[in-house]
Amino acid sequence: MAPTAILYSEKMREYDLGHVLTGERYERFMDLFREKLGGNPDFEIVEPDYATEADLRLVHTQEYIRRVERCQSRDPHDTPLSPGVVRAAKLLAGAGKLAGELVHSGAYSKAVVIGGGVQHAGKDYEKGFGIFSDVGICAENLMQNYGLERILILDADAHAGDGIYSIFAHDPRVLFISIHQDPRTLYPGPGYRDPMGEGRGEGYSVNIPLLPGTSDLAYESILDGIFRPMAAEFCPQVILMVDGSDTHFIDRITCMGLTLKGIYMIADRVREVADKVCEGRVVAFAGSGYDPKGILFPRGWLASICGLTGTKVDLEEPYPLPPGHRRDYAVPQTEEVLEALKGKLRPYWKCFA
Ligand SMILES: [Zn+2]
Repeated sequence: MAPTAILYSEKMREYDLGHVLTGERYERFMDLFREKLGGNPDFEIVEPDYATEADLRLVHTQEYIRRVERCQSRDPHDTPLSPGVVRAAKLLAGAGKLAGELVHSGAYSKAVVIGGGVQHAGKDYEKGFGIFSDVGICAENLMQNYGLERILILDADAHAGDGIYSIFAHDPRVLFISIHQDPRTLYPGPGYRDPMGEGRGEGYSVNIPLLPGTSDLAYESILDGIFRPMAAEFCPQVILMVDGSDTHFIDRITCMGLTLKGIYMIADRVREVADKVCEGRVVAFAGSGYDPKGILFPRGWLASICGLTGTKVDLEEPYPLPPGHRRDYAVPQTEEVLEALKGKLRPYWKCFA
């Protein structure tokens, strides 16, 4: 089987916002990666280039690109801009574009953008630590320059992918499924079951808000009940997966209840489905995770990469399970969300008829 590309450059460490999102997280991950998978020939590190103006224009407006280049932040408390951060944002965007091309060409079966997965930035605004949409540029490049007509984006980060939604809400070529913590309890605010896309894109955006604390087994029922049948019917040519580790129970920004096994399971399901519907082609973005000591997130990213590639890895939980933690927490409530969603999706999707 073709190897997996790990898109990484030391220059990415300039993506440092000076708070929870530090530049050193890249090195921390790469240290663990080298320790666990360094000698494994199924993985190759590929250095991306900076996105060009034309690459950025696949998604973003010229006016916005100019503003970012002048480091004029819309809200410096939300996403501060500096020359280094802007350079790194262009590198991440370039990594997203290249990752899609590597998988499309068949040279690699999977590609993982380390530190990627910009979820909140839109066509003409930065938001929630994100500046240029690596996910959006990856998908638009494949559609505009390589003629792809069906792309599935599964966003399993704990936050709703409101920026990705806004970029593709009108586009029926992109099926966007976002599984996230109930937006009443977490940034950024949108992410309720409605709206489900706009205009011709109606029915092609699925927001799945879940209770805080939702567990491994509840996520499993969502993947099997929504993602799997929709992927089979939509038949994407490639799957883009936004993952990370802020769904882990230890995360200090979010309140979900996944273990490392759960994070592995999500990616494992994506691999299984991709094998069936798109010859295994997946571009993954692993970037989130904010734990007190900064030791969980590299394990989360690695668990995801191993699930995605079916690689066995020995990853112990670095933190004890919280008292009362259950692997099946919120399963009944999640089943209710599932049934309600199926009802809403029925007019658009035969698989729920
Ligand atoms: Zn997140």
